Amino acid sequence: MAKPIGEVSKELRKLADDMLETMYHAPGIGLAAPQVGVLKRFFVMDCVKKEGAAPQPMALFNPEVTWVSEEMNTYEEGCLSIPEQYADVERPAEARVRWMDVDGKTHEEQFDGLWATCVQHEIDHLDGKLFIDYLKPLKRQMITRKMVKLKREMARE
Ligand SMILES: [Zn+2]
Repeated sequence: MAKPIGEVSKELRKLADDMLETMYHAPGIGLAAPQVGVLKRFFVMDCVKKEGAAPQPMALFNPEVTWVSEEMNTYEEGCLSIPEQYADVERPAEARVRWMDVDGKTHEEQFDGLWATCVQHEIDHLDGKLFIDYLKPLKRQMITRKMVKLKREMARE
């Protein structure tokens, strides 16, 4: 499990910037520190997907879900750690999250829509959980088998 952060150092700020760059380049809407081999509790995201809309990069340190709605929502999720695999995942439609920003300031905000799905997906990464853990065993096995095959092929190259 990823470790909490005491204060946001210059190195962490730089890492968050690099992670945003990697995420935009992928392209993806979220990237958590454990995905780049850093076991610390933070992630970056930007769920603005509309062409031409202003980007909204965010870096959330020590994020914590403080409330979720009873209402659920289903999104087709993907993950930069599981390339080219997508599946419907049901999660609370709204989530309230508390976090620390790059300047060490505490925020609490309620997210909905794609943002709510993304924050929950990314916080799961900090606890070592992937979106495929929510799937029915058969579907999960199918994706896991594909990933093993893909890793083998990559190792051969
Ligand atoms: Zn992911």
